[in-house]
Amino acid sequence: MNAAREADIIIIGAGFGGLSAAARAVELGLKPLVLEKGGDSDYPCNSRYSGGFVHIALEDPTDPPEKLNQAVTTLTGGTADAAVAKAFTEDGKKVIDWLRGHGVQFIRVGHRPTGHHVMAPPRPAQPGLQWKGRGPDRLLRNLAQWLSDRGCEIILGTRASELKVENGHCVGVIAEQGGATVEFRGKAVIIADGGFQANPDLLKKYICARPDRLHQRNARSGTGDGLMMAEKLGARLVGMDCFYGHPLHGEAFTNDLLWPYPQMDSIAVSGLIVDSTGRRYVDEGMGGTYIANMMARRPDPSDSFVIFDETIWTGPAGDLSAPPAPNPSLKTAKATMHSARTIPELAKLAGLPAETLARTIAEFNAAVAAGTPENLDPPRSLKKGQHVQVKKPYVIEKAPFYAMPMCPGITYTMGGLATDIDTRVLHNSGAIIPGLFAVGSASGGLEGGPGFGYFGGVSKAVISGLRAAECIARENQAAAPARRAG
Ligand SMILES: Cc1cc2nc3c(=O)[nH]c(=O)nc-3n(C[C@H](O)[C@H](O)[C@H](O)COP(=O)(O)OP(=O)(O)OC[C@H]3O[C@@H](n4cnc5c(N)ncnc54)[C@H](O)[C@@H]3O)c2cc1C
Repeated sequence: MNAAREADIIIIGAGFGGLSAAARAVELGLKPLVLEKGGDSDYPCNSRYSGGFVHIALEDPTDPPEKLNQAVTTLTGGTADAAVAKAFTEDGKKVIDWLRGHGVQFIRVGHRPTGHHVMAPPRPAQPGLQWKGRGPDRLLRNLAQWLSDRGCEIILGTRASELKVENGHCVGVIAEQGGATVEFRGKAVIIADGGFQANPDLLKKYICARPDRLHQRNARSGTGDGLMMAEKLGARLVGMDCFYGHPLHGEAFTNDLLWPYPQMDSIAVSGLIVDSTGRRYVDEGMGGTYIANMMARRPDPSDSFVIFDETIWTGPAGDLSAPPAPNPSLKTAKATMHSARTIPELAKLAGLPAETLARTIAEFNAAVAAGTPENLDPPRSLKKGQHVQVKKPYVIEKAPFYAMPMCPGITYTMGGLATDIDTRVLHNSGAIIPGLFAVGSASGGLEGGPGFGYFGGVSKAVISGLRAAECIARENQAAAPARRAG
């Protein structure tokens, strides 16, 4: 192994978490170095694939911190780390301003607070993966150029594999580079590797018995390397069984026009979801991420159909708050959509047991018409509560009726390394692991809970990235007089 390369901070991963930490560190007079396992300047990462909606807990990040903090508490059913949630929600406006300072132009998309700050240019309203030249891709390239102009290197094709610890302090990283092993040393290490959604073994351990039936609605770059390296040092893991994701059309595994968009949420929360026995098993009112998680927990995650009617297809299925809408993009993508004038005919086309399906729909319709869907088993929520976006259910009554196969799509894992408010990684004992930081989807503690509450992947990555750099700068300053005295 050659002599170790040195910098103030070694950052693992060049997504929004890693690059915002690097840029903030440079602004504060530090010399960071970024390791990225992707081999060229188009390296795939979730940040690049992102829709660019910058929100906090589905609210506008510039809203008052108390409101944002309350939204996090509500969405996560009070399970988010209270101190971290309070600190991070105080940074909402700061993050929007910081991003603007790095060239981001925001536009509004849709009518919800989630769409108040969308990075321009937004993704086009077309099905499939469309990232090139869009706001998030542009931000990654701008940050990379800004860093390069200031002498900060992003070393591509370099996969971190081990953390170096001396006297209990994390002092560097061992990495694989073109078949060779290389060492990088610094005063601190930031894990910004984007979560473990693309690691089937970790998915099997924490989330899903059949990872092969869980659609990778992501860049497949988050393989949990940082998590496993830190776990070896005794790091505490939190919220490991929850993920952020959406229900997708069941043919997303074989048709690239069906992921990451259109999401099936608007149909799934308006109609009803049945498994291969024709029975409901999930509270559709809890929203898309909840539905995707509950699907993933089934012995076969991809055995579901969403049942809906013409009123839903010509109504909520055209909802443009997360473009493109299922209607018409499912048709553009030539996705299978069984449709029939009667329920028995529909059951036959979809291969579902006709009598059971008819009974399930009749019970659902009666409960919705009576205003008592919450009494169903499982209930169909009506109230705003754990999930703020509960939509009204529809009576399935207007032909043609539709049955569409669905699968759960995992975007990123919500759980990960437990940290304090400054993103310092916590040991199982509760103490911090000196010199070790975790940001973005590598960190846990802020999302999940009974309703699978979502903080916002972009805001979490940038807020935590800035916080990590600021903490390291403070620690560095505090240590300077001691070093001089020594
Ligand atoms: C399709 C899609 C749409 C989304 N839309 C939104 C949205 O509109 N709003 C929102 O808030 N969030 C959205 N998200 C989520 C959001 O994009 C992510 O949560 C966020 O960008 C994660 O940033 P990150 O830096 O933690 O991880 P990433 O961007 O994934 O970056 C991690 C980087 O680490 C690298 N890496 C991994 N392991 C190693 C290793 N061992 N050594 C070196 N490098 C390594 C990876 O190659 C990768 O480049 C979306 C995600 C997807 C996939």
